[in-house]
Amino acid sequence: MDGQNLSDADGPTMLIGEDWPEIRESVSRICEPFDNDYWMKLDDASEYPDKFVQALTDAGYLATLIPEEFGGSGLPISAACAVLETIHAAGCNAAACHAQMYTMGTVLRHGSDEQKQKFLPGIATGELRMQAFGVTEPTTGSDTTQLKTKAVREGNQYVVNGQKVWTSRALQSDLMLLLARTTPADEVKRRSDGVSVFLVDLREAVGNGLEIRKLDAAINHNTCEVFMDNLKLAPDTLIGEEGRGFKYILDGMNAERILIAAESIGDAKFFIKKSIDYANDRVVFGSPIGKNQGVQFPIARAYAEAQAAEMMVRKAAAMFDQGVPCGAEANMAKMLASEAAWKAAEACMQTHGGFAFAKEYGIERKWRETRLYQIAPISTNLILGYIGQHVLGMPRSY
Ligand SMILES: Cc1cc2nc3c(=O)[nH]c(=O)nc-3n(C[C@H](O)[C@H](O)[C@H](O)COP(=O)(O)OP(=O)(O)OC[C@H]3O[C@@H](n4cnc5c(N)ncnc54)[C@H](O)[C@@H]3O)c2cc1C
Repeated sequence: MDGQNLSDADGPTMLIGEDWPEIRESVSRICEPFDNDYWMKLDDASEYPDKFVQALTDAGYLATLIPEEFGGSGLPISAACAVLETIHAAGCNAAACHAQMYTMGTVLRHGSDEQKQKFLPGIATGELRMQAFGVTEPTTGSDTTQLKTKAVREGNQYVVNGQKVWTSRALQSDLMLLLARTTPADEVKRRSDGVSVFLVDLREAVGNGLEIRKLDAAINHNTCEVFMDNLKLAPDTLIGEEGRGFKYILDGMNAERILIAAESIGDAKFFIKKSIDYANDRVVFGSPIGKNQGVQFPIARAYAEAQAAEMMVRKAAAMFDQGVPCGAEANMAKMLASEAAWKAAEACMQTHGGFAFAKEYGIERKWRETRLYQIAPISTNLILGYIGQHVLGMPRSY
């Protein structure tokens, strides 16, 4: 493996794969002006971080995974991980734009040449945003193959009816990847068959059979409900072959898990640094609170667990970049990193005592945001079910 290394700026760590120090440094610089005040105001107003997304777009980071021939940087996923981890470690949040990175794989691997030529250069320059991914439905939950949204071929078009929920950034995106059933579930051999992926141009669809309503959520994730009522889609919006969409989406899910795991590692680093600084500075009963084992040990444990999780994230990314199967590693990376980030968030909350609740410290906002990744894009139980069945050979539990 390339770039094995025994240390990094944060302290001793065994690195697997490339570390991308220039990317980390440059992204850190971009993040600097976007301080807690910036995020706190957006959080209060439930607004989209336009300026932050624009800064990342201008610097080319949202095109990290787009091949050079379409105007991107054509870098591997380990580079995208470095971008997202750095954003989160700086106290910012990449959720406003990370979907562009993980939906990209479906278009790159399974899209037609025409689709790639039509959309990728615009996405690379930032002229077009492909930030929305419509999978989850209100009545189906984690049992994705049971989704109810239907796309029926009628002459030279598909007619789509159904509803999606938690479709993040639908209001800020020009394009949405949509998962819909094209063959009824009782007419297919495997329940994952008969589901297709469409690349929906929201600029044309909104008001013409598609409606987006903002959801009031506990974090500022710009997430929405999407209603489709006789939405008409041209056949060239279909990605790949009809009925194979679930497989295409699954291919992309390893990327999604690894990228989200990298964000969680960034969150863990953010909380650990904040905790250490406060534990060393805050004096109560005549000494810094970090002198007490009850304060120090949860931080030390969170650090150890984050380091272990980071190793798994790097392993999964390195395997993904080498093109070897990495479903187990990607899932374990996401589970371990989201749990490590949460432990760090809890340690940070407790270390700050009452001041953890003061919004100006930025801890309670990050704490809420960090909790999400044990639930979305896939919950911990579903990952454990995957490991139990597919890695350890036990019966399917769901
Ligand atoms: C802020 C936010 C943003 C999101 N963004 C998007 C997005 O952009 N696009 C999109 O498509 N979706 C998005 N989601 C949806 C997210 O992917 C789902 O919430 C997640 O996959 C879990 O599905 P669910 O909420 O329906 O939970 P359910 O499937 O109803 O599960 C509820 C709980 O039961 C557990 N459970 C269910 N079945 C089993 C079982 N057999 N064994 C053990 N435990 C089980 C789960 O682990 C979970 O803890 C988002 C969600 C949130 C909150």
